[in-house]
Amino acid sequence: MNADVETVRTADRKHVFHSWSAQELIAPLPVAGAEGSYFWDYEGNRYLDFSSALVYTNIGYQHPKVVAAVQEQAAKMCTVAPGFAVDVRSEAARLIAERTPGDLDKIFFTNGGAEAVENAVRMARLHTGRPKVLSAYRSYHGATTGAINLTGDSRRFGNDSATAGVVHFWGPFLYRSAFHATTEAEECERALRHLEDTIVFEGPQSIAAILLEPVVGAAGVIVPPAGYLPGVRELCDRYGIVFILDEVMVGFGRTGTWFAADHWDVTPDLLCFAKGVNSGYVPLGGVAISAAIAETFARRPYPGGLTYSGHILACAAAVATLTTMAEEGVVEQSARTGAELLGPGLRELAERHPSVGEVRGLGTFWALELVRDRETREPLVPYAASGADNAPMAAFADACKKGGLWPLAAGNRLHVAPPCTIGAADVAKGLEILDGALTVADTHMA
Ligand code: PLP
Repeated sequence: MNADVETVRTADRKHVFHSWSAQELIAPLPVAGAEGSYFWDYEGNRYLDFSSALVYTNIGYQHPKVVAAVQEQAAKMCTVAPGFAVDVRSEAARLIAERTPGDLDKIFFTNGGAEAVENAVRMARLHTGRPKVLSAYRSYHGATTGAINLTGDSRRFGNDSATAGVVHFWGPFLYRSAFHATTEAEECERALRHLEDTIVFEGPQSIAAILLEPVVGAAGVIVPPAGYLPGVRELCDRYGIVFILDEVMVGFGRTGTWFAADHWDVTPDLLCFAKGVNSGYVPLGGVAISAAIAETFARRPYPGGLTYSGHILACAAAVATLTTMAEEGVVEQSARTGAELLGPGLRELAERHPSVGEVRGLGTFWALELVRDRETREPLVPYAASGADNAPMAAFADACKKGGLWPLAAGNRLHVAPPCTIGAADVAKGLEILDGALTVADTHMA
């Protein structure tokens, strides 16, 4: 369909209700096409996508092998009910199970991340017979009722029903330590002690699960200290609590390993995934399930399901994405890009721009923490800022776009998350655009 840009814009404004927005205060950019690390509008402006859409086009836009696999599956059979056994669904589940750590060998498919979290929590509650779930402040787990209440960032505020059996705790984050720690080791030890205190005072017998992002995504790109996730695993084992890792944003190569948990050799009991599993070409998510939890539902029906569970177009995209990522070494490329290009390049920018308070990340997943003052670490904009309070970040994001880079601004941070397949020349180009845009952020120094 070739549509005139004004027709697209007008129908969008008239009929499309967009996520997270006051509908009259937004002006969505009409997008005409996309390829690799770029998308473009109808006026011929090309944007280097440092957001990978919403951190999911790990293999880039329009990878020909994935496009062909979806086309071939559509020609053969577009859809079939979830209760049947189908070649492409079986193969997608096998390929995912092959990559997940430990004995996470059974896959329950969903349409996206929030549904994966909802189902993982349901499994944990039924498996343990306990009601509560512990999750971290500075987290994002999705926008359905359970998932948004589990979320520990300001997107929960408009939805908080305080009734979903959720208790929040502080995870480790040395730059803004909740524990007044001064080293990673101290932060790790204190965060684990705080979590154990929370478990003990909530009553372990009432806690079904601890839910964590192994590397915190939307709420900050926060890489935990080395001992933290193994320590949480140990606490879960000690108190009979199910350990759920939410790998929706960081799974499938984003941090330079298949799963972020691989960095610390940790195996959860349930692992939620979505996004990168098929680079978002067709909606797909799911839960990878341990042998022990699968056994709970071996002769007892699992009380949950979805019309489109394991949709075969989405599974065809997953099979093609996962095999292509292996063939083309995309996970290794993500690791190399982080270690050799993005990490050093962003740190070099921080040396020259006083508004950069911290650079952190792994693979093709980084954050610049923007501040007004490096000493006090006062954020460039306040927590949960909107409107005029958020103006400095909005101006910074505008400068990126004017330079031809699509940024992922989150609170007072720039998240840097290009496709895992980005080449060296595009990394260099992105860093150059950021260099120019950071001069805008620098003007707000205290
Ligand atoms: N969990 C994490 C860690 C996420 O980053 C997201 C989305 O960004 C979700 C869950 C929700 O996924 P979805 O938007 O597909 O429901």
